[in-house]
Amino acid sequence: MSAGGGAVAPHRTASRRAMWYHAEAHGGGSGVIVACLDLEGVLVPEIWINVAERTGIEALRRTTRDEPDYDVLMKYRLEILAQHDLGLPDIQDVIGGMGPLEGAVDFLDALRERYQVVILSDTFYEFADPLMRQLGRPTLFCHSLEVDGEGRVVDYRLRQQDQKRRAVEAFHGLNLRVIAAGDSYNDTAMLGAADAGILFRPPDNVIEEFPQFPVTRTYDELAAAFADAEKRIG
Ligand SMILES: [Mg+2]
Repeated sequence: MSAGGGAVAPHRTASRRAMWYHAEAHGGGSGVIVACLDLEGVLVPEIWINVAERTGIEALRRTTRDEPDYDVLMKYRLEILAQHDLGLPDIQDVIGGMGPLEGAVDFLDALRERYQVVILSDTFYEFADPLMRQLGRPTLFCHSLEVDGEGRVVDYRLRQQDQKRRAVEAFHGLNLRVIAAGDSYNDTAMLGAADAGILFRPPDNVIEEFPQFPVTRTYDELAAAFADAEKRIG
């Protein structure tokens, strides 16, 4: 029992609430929904592309958008880093200068008011930390790196194969419903396993191959797609 219980200060939710207009109008919210979000391309820029730009190494521009086989892509990246004598501190310097995409923080905060949000990413905790701090440290399931005593990235450890899809299936096993959003190939298994999947700013080839998922390009559109999905699965 708080003495100031009736004096809750108005805060900046008014504009966020507007994002959920459709869902509110249809009364959604029966049961718990987990919102699973990809990280890079959805809330923050592509980390490797930023590293490529800062270092001038064009070869590091390849992402899961270009190479769907994640193991092939990572082995290639580690080889390039070794060739250029780039270690974890160099990459962390670049990432430390990055920030979330414009509007991402407000979108994420609004999403967290309505859903239990979990970030499912194929990045590494060692890379993600400065960005997760700026996002208010939402729950993140991703992978980790093996780094030697001199800061060289010698290998990477996938927590498990196909972790995005398996996380969604595990949530289903906990009797939770899932709406998932992502931007590229490595998200499509997650989107397919979810009760509803949404693409955000995907490349054309992903749109063509996966026409079953609605395509969104702004956070307002993404919020509206979550609300529509909630109506559909509710
Ligand atoms: Mg992505």
